[in-house]
Amino acid sequence: MTTTKSMIDLHAPAEKIFVAGRWESGVTGALMNVESPVDESVLARVPSASAADLDRAYTGAAAAAEAWGSISWVQRAKLMRELAERVRESAERLAVIEALDSGNPIAACRDDVEAAAEGLNHMAGLAGEAGGRTIPSRSGTLVYTRRRPFGVVGRITAYNHPLRFAGKAIAAPLAAGNAVILKPADQTPLTSLELARLSEGILPPGVLSVLSGTGAGVGSAIAGDPRIRRIGFTGSVEAGRAVLSAGARGIKSVSLELGGKNPIIICDDVDLEAAALATVRGMNLTSSNGQSCQSNSRVLVQDSIHEEFIDILVEHISRLRVGDPLDPEKNVGTLISAPHLERVMGYIRRAVEEGAVLRHGGGRPAGQERGYFIEPAVLSDVAPGSTLAKEEVFGPVLAIMRWRNDDEAIQIANDTEFGLAANVLTASFDRAHRIADRLEAGVVWINGPTERPPGTPFGGLKNSGLGKEQSLEELLSYTQETAVLAAY
Ligand code: NAD
Repeated sequence: MTTTKSMIDLHAPAEKIFVAGRWESGVTGALMNVESPVDESVLARVPSASAADLDRAYTGAAAAAEAWGSISWVQRAKLMRELAERVRESAERLAVIEALDSGNPIAACRDDVEAAAEGLNHMAGLAGEAGGRTIPSRSGTLVYTRRRPFGVVGRITAYNHPLRFAGKAIAAPLAAGNAVILKPADQTPLTSLELARLSEGILPPGVLSVLSGTGAGVGSAIAGDPRIRRIGFTGSVEAGRAVLSAGARGIKSVSLELGGKNPIIICDDVDLEAAALATVRGMNLTSSNGQSCQSNSRVLVQDSIHEEFIDILVEHISRLRVGDPLDPEKNVGTLISAPHLERVMGYIRRAVEEGAVLRHGGGRPAGQERGYFIEPAVLSDVAPGSTLAKEEVFGPVLAIMRWRNDDEAIQIANDTEFGLAANVLTASFDRAHRIADRLEAGVVWINGPTERPPGTPFGGLKNSGLGKEQSLEELLSYTQETAVLAAY
């Protein structure tokens, strides 16, 4: 393979951040390498933004927010749709950058570019719904509420779908009339900076700033800045806690999209072939090699079909082709970094030490000497209470657990700190709903996974998060409501 660096076409100015409509060097001059997980080469260097950069971005954003929040939502929506169109016009270029920066397969990156555009269009369409309501009151009084934007909001995103997240992260706050300071993940800032470049000439200067940098640096500066009263965060539980706790000082509105350890419950009355395909699909291996908050990484199989199901599942998993994300013949890419690859392999080793049986994968694919490639791993006999049953791996590791009756399946399914998503597969309508009713998750699929159409509220229960996204609830969450009580 030729060097990945020569294959990407960056339009954003080199070694600059997008600060309130201008491309600037970071105040401290510190740069970070952006490494390709595909061949471990350095694709670019970007500023590691600091609190001083945030200060400049805030000043420009606050100045822009007033005008942006005052124009008609129709006008804001029009500009957001223009941005979505520009994203679409650059789709292939962005998808290649994304594949080489994230290690996700090119087909998945094309979907992510489209999702970013769709996210902007979806919220543009909803923008007019960010109104208040009237409250029934006695004659002689008029009671109504009105919603106004916060002004400047901070959005911090994770690395697994960089542009998809960037597009969706800016969409609701922009539609509601806020200026946005976006901090992409440390590892994958390139397409967010490209999005900033595409926004030039469409969004008024200051309405969008993009600050590359670390969580400990500019991330925690955003979380702790008392002037930024609304933060939307996507990432791990640990970092989410830090953001929530920093926000407590300023009584900020914080929404959190955090991790998952999602169960898929496979009942004995299912078509095993279809269930195996659903399990593979729900692991999101072909989109992000299982680095997905929604992956159904706990596979809960009823006792009587356990062995037969595993054979079919392994058969399907072994057909996946791990390799170069730009090669259309491959459909599973890399993990994000060397430490993450080591972490994932560590989970597999520990699971085996704790009694699980490795049925498939878990090693480096043959012929892939460089890059953070790993064959998806299937482990059975994972004991409830063991590390693999409890902790989020955020990688291609399926933990199969056995159960005898529905109560036991539900008990195992709910037995983690997480509550993001769950899936139940059964041919029985009654059984499906009886089980689904008792699952502690923000999203429950019955005989899924299926598409989540735009507008479906997305967000976790328990330690998987706070608040809902990708829906009217998200739009409203970027507004503040005031009740007005008038006597006449
Ligand atoms: P991470 O928590 O390490 O980083 C996420 C973002 O937070 C990055 O931009 C990082 O720089 C920043 N950050 C880290 N510490 C911070 C701090 N103290 N203050 C402010 N910002 C900070 O997560 P990751 O490794 O990028 O992503 C993986 C995690 O994200 C997994 O747990 C996954 O489940 C979760 N995730 C959740 C969703 C969802 O929608 N629920 C989506 C994608 C990923």
